[in-house]
Amino acid sequence: MFPEIFIKNENSGHCGHGGFIILVAYQRRMVLFERDNEIYRDRDALREDYQPDELVGRDEELQTYQAALQPVINGEQPNNIFLYGKTGVGKTAATKYLLSHLREDAAQYDDIDLSVIFLNCDGLTSSYQIATRLVNSLRSEANQISTTGYPLASVYEMLWEDLDARGGTVLVVLDEIDHVNDDSILYQLPRARANGDLETAKIGLIGISNDFSFRDDLSPKVKSSLCEQEIHFPAYNAENLRAILEQRGDVAFHDDVLSDEVIPLCAAYGAKDAGDARQSIDLLMKAGDLARDEETSVVTEEHVRRGRRALERGRIKEGINGLTEHGHLVLYALLTLDLDGEAPVRSRDVRPRYTRFAELANRDPLVPRRMRDHLSELAMLGIVSVSERNEGRRGGTYREYALDMDVELILSAMMETVELVGVHDSIASYVEEDDTDGSPTLEDFTEV
Ligand code: ADP
Ligand code: MG
Repeated sequence: MFPEIFIKNENSGHCGHGGFIILVAYQRRMVLFERDNEIYRDRDALREDYQPDELVGRDEELQTYQAALQPVINGEQPNNIFLYGKTGVGKTAATKYLLSHLREDAAQYDDIDLSVIFLNCDGLTSSYQIATRLVNSLRSEANQISTTGYPLASVYEMLWEDLDARGGTVLVVLDEIDHVNDDSILYQLPRARANGDLETAKIGLIGISNDFSFRDDLSPKVKSSLCEQEIHFPAYNAENLRAILEQRGDVAFHDDVLSDEVIPLCAAYGAKDAGDARQSIDLLMKAGDLARDEETSVVTEEHVRRGRRALERGRIKEGINGLTEHGHLVLYALLTLDLDGEAPVRSRDVRPRYTRFAELANRDPLVPRRMRDHLSELAMLGIVSVSERNEGRRGGTYREYALDMDVELILSAMMETVELVGVHDSIASYVEEDDTDGSPTLEDFTEV
């Protein structure tokens, strides 16, 4: 028996299902829902939670990873493994693929008792939260501990006890560990045996990070224990993505539904964006959905292009929604400057308008440096473009900012800020006037 424990973290909801509305037709049976499977053989194969049978084009990484897991089969103390690479490059998929093989193959050996605990740290911020979840994953329903209220040291005590009670080899996978702000658990887990905290259990930690800088920021003592075996997953190029999409497309779509240019185009966009397989698969699904909505039986290049625009809009909206209030104020200032024909504009020239907007919204303006951080964040989200300029003979460089996105799209995600600050002249034509709520009006802006 090889129990696999999969902790579902309530905070990491990836699949945003809308609610279902159930209509009941009492009188006469009326058909509301009909199968429309002309396009898809298995649409679920394109979803995030689908695990492919084979991984394409990751032979080298898989070989290294497999070798790093070999001690488990040999009945030895497992290695601690650290995987890193951008999002969507197959880290989670490779881990699940290899661990499921490892569990099957370990079952052939009577003297190996392997447990795998898989925890996604999205939504978790501290070692404390992780440790309590690990404890609960090892306990029965009736013996769960509260996720607050204990000293950290006692939670570790419980964890060691429960791990020893489980015994055998325990692999703990902490996926997306970059969400965790302190490294205590990353130090404690790998060293538990050496520190005499564990007697029977052999524990191996697999840490997975989407963030390159995470590794560099680890303290040397954590680095040396966690990063015993490091495996880097590079971004995919268009050719890799094509192979992945072809494999997935065969499962998801009926034969001859995808016209020839669809997969190469999805792959090309994916490579241009970030070499992210998730994004490319999402795009393929969006294109398929658009074709299905239109009730056509072929997915075309045009569906991909439209799908890309729709996804892009969704991403930008989400990005803007995730900004802080000052992020919104900085963006509003830049947006109006851009519409006034002032962009590209330097940070110091954004400042007067930002300050004025902050005052109108009854907020204390941030210091220039913090305001600049917000401009950089906007650039990272792809909402704002940045260009470096030279100062001329006096040397030195400076940065200029401009809007890099559709005005209406940005505004639609920022209406709360507009309400708070008031409608600036430059956006008046975009905003339907409904001036009954007493919010500041156009005149308030004439001086900035
Ligand atoms: P990461 O964990 O690095 O963010 P994932 O493992 O979640 O990336 O991969 C993103 C998506 O792309 C998943 O749906 C995964 O199944 C798929 N995928 C990634 N790499 C491959 C590959 N080499 N072959 C097949 N599918 C892949
Ligand atoms: Mg992942």
